[in-house]
Amino acid sequence: MVWLRAWRRRKLKARTFPAAWQELLWKRSLLYRHLPAMDREELHGHIRVFVTEKRFEGAGGLLVTDEVRVLVASQACLLLLHRSADYFPGLYSIVIYPSGYLAPKRERDQVGAVVEAVEARAGETWARGTLVLAWDAVLAGAAGRAGCSNVVIHEFAHQLDYQTGEADGAPLLPRDRYPEWSRVWGREYARLQHALAQGLPVDISPYGAKNPAEFFAVVVEQFFMCPRALSSRHPGLYRQLQELFRQDPASWLPR
Ligand SMILES: [Zn+2]
Repeated sequence: MVWLRAWRRRKLKARTFPAAWQELLWKRSLLYRHLPAMDREELHGHIRVFVTEKRFEGAGGLLVTDEVRVLVASQACLLLLHRSADYFPGLYSIVIYPSGYLAPKRERDQVGAVVEAVEARAGETWARGTLVLAWDAVLAGAAGRAGCSNVVIHEFAHQLDYQTGEADGAPLLPRDRYPEWSRVWGREYARLQHALAQGLPVDISPYGAKNPAEFFAVVVEQFFMCPRALSSRHPGLYRQLQELFRQDPASWLPR
């Protein structure tokens, strides 16, 4: 029932945020330290709701502690600030491995035959149900030790993309915003693919050239982790995300 859920969420948000959680965020999260104080307050409420509503499961021997729950929630919920966005409604559980895990992968070789292989991954997610993360990558992203990458922001950006029913690099937007969105994102996506094909240097992760959904996810990572570089070199993309998230990380993150 929608009203019951809204009431429960209001009650959770009204509780005092544990001092131990605040301390660990302060210690482990670069974005948390730089976030404007008002936003930090709002984030606390979202974290409360998130850790109550989502199921966390440890895998490969990882023990799920408050540190795990709160650090994942704090980064995922950055994408919800200032918006009436729901809490990633298609997602029920988050599985965490201690470090990069091996996943089976099927691909085609040069003659078109399907080859079974394994690859190391730091995270992945599907439209409904589950999201998987490697804890060492979560820590590195939170601390800002992974450059412009942040695996939690990446996977939850996919979750926003899925809310439209398709993974096509466009999240839910007011209808009249889609034409400009596809013009700006389409042009920048083509630019990245062209630069890579020509062997030119790029300042957006080459992984984004895989498809429009990955392009959206890597640009959202950069928006939060390296906002100044994104806003100076790709002002169109920055503006689109500034409007979507109603935030301006370039004004508070000094990099
Ligand atoms: Zn991805």
